[in-house]
Amino acid sequence: MKKNKEIITMKENNNNIDKLPSENVDKLSIENKVTNEEEKRVIPYGDYHTHTTFSDGVSTLEENIQQAIKIGLKEYAVTDHGFKHRWSGITFANFQVQRRQVELFREKYPQIKIYHTVEANLMGYSGLLDIEPYKDQLDFLQMGFHKTASNESFLTWLSFTASNLIFRPSEKKIQKNTLAYLRCIDRYNLQFVNHLKYGILVDVKEIAKACVERGTKIELNGKRIFFTQQEVDDMLDCGVDFVVNSDAHSSERVGDVQLGIDFAKTHGIPLDKIVNLNKSIFD
Ligand SMILES: [Zn+2]
Ligand SMILES: [Zn+2]
Repeated sequence: MKKNKEIITMKENNNNIDKLPSENVDKLSIENKVTNEEEKRVIPYGDYHTHTTFSDGVSTLEENIQQAIKIGLKEYAVTDHGFKHRWSGITFANFQVQRRQVELFREKYPQIKIYHTVEANLMGYSGLLDIEPYKDQLDFLQMGFHKTASNESFLTWLSFTASNLIFRPSEKKIQKNTLAYLRCIDRYNLQFVNHLKYGILVDVKEIAKACVERGTKIELNGKRIFFTQQEVDDMLDCGVDFVVNSDAHSSERVGDVQLGIDFAKTHGIPLDKIVNLNKSIFD
């Protein structure tokens, strides 16, 4: 509402534009341009995938929260890389430190709802995530495949991760990868699956079907999206819901979901299939 009021004010100023000194006109036109560009940018209700200096982000949790408030997010989740991410995973000790920060910031910034979890790593064909035995301490669950995460054993790493990196996966391998996702979706109460097909080929249609059954959403990631048009059509046929997240690694990118929005528009995903544009993913 406040933004609308500002726009109306700007339009009223425009009507009086010939009465203003030229330097003010220049300033006004610049301000108008910025406002118009901001207007085009979609701000979601919540951003549920962001990183901080506790993993490989460059901004602190408080900087991220302040940016989230500044751009008008109602909900924000801090989701540093899971515990088995080789170089950037948050340690469980630091996760507890971060939890105390979250509790403090919830009191300091009551205007925004703050969630605390990790971006969990798929560990292998079992479908297990690297959040055991801490999963009860996470506010909600999300997962993705990261080639930099360690697996259940070296043999699992060779067959599950390394073979995805070195070889063009066979159809059989793609089905095995898919099975790992299906087991994971079945095992955990996931809110959404992160950046599907990033570093691992899977059968998107089968995963979308499982997501629909379990009420799990599929992320349109703010940094990378790999779906083909056929896969988008298959997902829509299944009736799966989507979530747009920034995957911000710096505070300036918190709430920046434009890649997901643009992808949806160019690939025929109705915006009402994106559940976090106007409401919480928990509603
Ligand atoms: Zn990721
Ligand atoms: Zn991420």
